[in-house]
Amino acid sequence: MMAQGTGAHDHEVSAVASTQRLWQRIGTLALWRVAALVAASPWMAPIGPLNLLLAPRCVSCRTSCAPQQLLCAACWRAMPWLPDPLCERCGLPQPCGTPCPAAEWAFSRSWAPLDYAGPVIALIRALKERGAIQAADLMAATIVARAPARVLLDGAVLVPVPADPWRRRRRGIDHAAVLADAIARRSGNDIVAALQRRPGGRQAGRSRAQRVAAGPTVQANGALVGRDAVLVDDVHTTGATLHAAALALNKAGAGRIACVTFGRSI
Ligand SMILES: [Zn+2]
Ligand SMILES: [Zn+2]
Repeated sequence: MMAQGTGAHDHEVSAVASTQRLWQRIGTLALWRVAALVAASPWMAPIGPLNLLLAPRCVSCRTSCAPQQLLCAACWRAMPWLPDPLCERCGLPQPCGTPCPAAEWAFSRSWAPLDYAGPVIALIRALKERGAIQAADLMAATIVARAPARVLLDGAVLVPVPADPWRRRRRGIDHAAVLADAIARRSGNDIVAALQRRPGGRQAGRSRAQRVAAGPTVQANGALVGRDAVLVDDVHTTGATLHAAALALNKAGAGRIACVTFGRSI
């Protein structure tokens, strides 16, 4: 009877242990599943590096890719390089229009290597929305490797175009400053934060005419009197923001002004 009782007890203990192991395993699997879902969610935006660590995915198409890689091989092959020749003034493929869309702008040159589309938008968002500094490094390396001499002038000072203050606070990053810093480390140009931007509200939804009519919300200090400047921003869309920044630098006594961006809306 004792042997039977012990056996039943052992069986009971074994069943309990087995059940515990099963629940532990379910718990572990559930934990990993939740971690993967959380890593892929937009709530992880403020801690992008952890997101990349948990689930390395292409920032553009979201398929898995090698750790530390922002783009998968297919998206790299699909990068929308702008075709030569480009208009030196507005940065659009030739012919850009009659007159050139930037004919009245306060900068004399602008250039970007890529159309603002597909993987380019994804990389810019990774920097702006998730603070992915490695995206800025990739953009800067691309710009410095491909920029014509007329854009990154010897002796010119890099000037980041400041983001709208409320957007900068919301994102926690001044993306143009991060990009300009990454370019300066590679090109050897000096960098000066010569511009301040007043809160101007959202640009999205406004027409080109409305953006231009809104006027400049940018002010420059006198740090660049007589010096050539290269405005740095993530994307050149209508040109209104770059024009406002160039106008402010002109009024503050800067020399020639060029613009360099990673993307160009065409
Ligand atoms: Zn991809
Ligand atoms: Zn043009």
